[in-house]
Amino acid sequence: MRQKFVAGNWKMHKDKSETIELISSLKNKLSNFSVITEVAICPPFTSLELASELIKNSTLKLGAQNVHSEPEGAYTGEISAKMLKSFGVEYVIIGHSERRTYFNESNEFINKKIKRAIEFDLRPIFCVGETLNEREAGKTFSVVEEQLILGLQGISESDLLKIVIAYEPVWAIGTGKTATPLQAQEVHFFIREKIKSIYDTKSSEKIKILYGGSVKPENARDLFLQPDIDGGLIGGACLNPDSFFKIILSAE
Ligand code: PEP
Repeated sequence: MRQKFVAGNWKMHKDKSETIELISSLKNKLSNFSVITEVAICPPFTSLELASELIKNSTLKLGAQNVHSEPEGAYTGEISAKMLKSFGVEYVIIGHSERRTYFNESNEFINKKIKRAIEFDLRPIFCVGETLNEREAGKTFSVVEEQLILGLQGISESDLLKIVIAYEPVWAIGTGKTATPLQAQEVHFFIREKIKSIYDTKSSEKIKILYGGSVKPENARDLFLQPDIDGGLIGGACLNPDSFFKIILSAE
């Protein structure tokens, strides 16, 4: 049995006071439940230090939304894995479609980031997923396969399980269009089979595969009930503590 995992990607939202408000409200809701699901929040870099303080004495884990592939150096505006680690960050989102699209991140660059994150003891949340054009052209499986093979190149079996994979169909992110539970399950099953063929059965059974793309309290339960869906990477709905909390409860 894989423990369910729900991570909230705040994207470019929440200033200092809004960070305090959101985390306090979430902590308050969680304090009345003993939740088994692992829950992480991924605020923007500017809120990481504050978030790290605020989640002390709670079960919430901290994630970042990006990391640079180099350990340090002349990369103006970038943040290293070592810096993230020093703020108590445990997870880092790598390969999100918004970074692939708006910042031209390639599979090769994503692979370097994954390796760097692991070197500094961070756990990558590695995102893969096809665009609408690719789905309509019948390329969903080949696109996801390529992203997996190139993204995981050179990652050892023991390091693989530090990674959480997130299947996020690009056409479902921030659009309100969710993949149906069966559409999502089909790709999650494919990803698990792919992990089996690249690594082995044991790794494929242990690795967590999250679904992301317009997950809401109304659709979370049916998605999380699918056999190969181990939780969710939540964008828009994690900005509201009520919605995020309901999604967490759906995973229980
Ligand atoms: C995301 O950004 O990873 C995401 C899934 O966003 P949304 O839930 O808003 O579609």
